[in-house]
Amino acid sequence: MNSFNPNFKTLMGPGPSNIDPRVLQAMSRPIIGHLDPQFIDLMDEIKALLRYAYQTENALTFPVSAPGSAGMETCFANLVEPGDKVLVCVNGVFGGRMKENVIRCGGEAVIVEDAWGTPVSPDKVEDALKANPDVKILAFVHAETSTGVCSDGEALAKLAQEHDCLTIMDCVTSLAGVPVMIDDWGIDAAYSGSQKCLSCPPGLSPVTFSERAIEHIRKRNTPIQSWFLDLSLVMDYWSGDGARSYHHTAPINAMYALHESLLLVREEGLEAAWARHKQHHAALKAGLEKLGLSLLVEEPYRLPQMNSVLIPDALKPREADIRKTLLAEYNLEIGAGLGALAGKIWRIGLMGFGASEENVRTCLNALEEVL
Ligand SMILES: *Cc1c(COP(=O)(O)O)cnc(C)c1O
Repeated sequence: MNSFNPNFKTLMGPGPSNIDPRVLQAMSRPIIGHLDPQFIDLMDEIKALLRYAYQTENALTFPVSAPGSAGMETCFANLVEPGDKVLVCVNGVFGGRMKENVIRCGGEAVIVEDAWGTPVSPDKVEDALKANPDVKILAFVHAETSTGVCSDGEALAKLAQEHDCLTIMDCVTSLAGVPVMIDDWGIDAAYSGSQKCLSCPPGLSPVTFSERAIEHIRKRNTPIQSWFLDLSLVMDYWSGDGARSYHHTAPINAMYALHESLLLVREEGLEAAWARHKQHHAALKAGLEKLGLSLLVEEPYRLPQMNSVLIPDALKPREADIRKTLLAEYNLEIGAGLGALAGKIWRIGLMGFGASEENVRTCLNALEEVL
């Protein structure tokens, strides 16, 4: 065996996405202790930079030391008590996982279902909230990576407020790719991931909680089932002035990476980052159309960073081979369809550092040759 040296691949799937070289460099800097005063300063900067990325003043904003799925669990484990009714919107894979989280927390999941490839219907949510006045939380996925659909976070949060519910929003794929306005929309709990539009390695999950959410957690009657994800314990490590107490050993160098990637977001500016994703999405769409390919999702709900491409019937028998060839001969990864959409779509990501003219060209040229 030798040192592992993978060659460079263009990652245009549903994540991980390619990493900005500045982020990779930051990761390779010397390790320091997880309670070193310099590290505590870094943690405080990460929290401030995350507040910018999330457009929030929430004090409780920090990265969970584990991938996006752990951010999801953090939200549900802390906010849902046994017996609580939670309205879960399911229009793809990740909404299904939210439902699973509610059940495992002992909650009762009320499901509002929409077809894969369409957004969560605010009308259906409103009807369900009216029919279930005892619902405590509304949970939905802002950017459904399994289908490439963006739902209306603002409208859904407004409905939740009108029915005196808290909101949990999955922003794993939306953060830094399309507007995510935690405070303006009044979202109570949100989680994201480092490896999508933040151009950072996988393994960290930024989360943010409103004062209302914290109040709700304080009033719990039962202890939080998970020790690791219990916010009241994690906070002794992530907040307070001066000394912090040991909770777990933070993935130090991964935090260097997240810090650098968040600096990149701030330097570019969120508005510019959103515009860049849109611009390259438009170029990709135009090129795909020239190849005779069209997108699954209707225009107003399309995520620029996650493009679901309908596979023409003639290509369906070869679709897996086409992806294999792209990876083997072009070092290009695109995503397959999941669940109901397996074999029917490809998922082409333009996330963060990967939302570039170069990636659009690489992808279109390779697809043209292979098709
Ligand atoms: C990727 C993703 C997750 C899970 O993140 P991991 O880092 O893979 O655990 C959750 N929700 C959505 C919408 C995602 O795209």
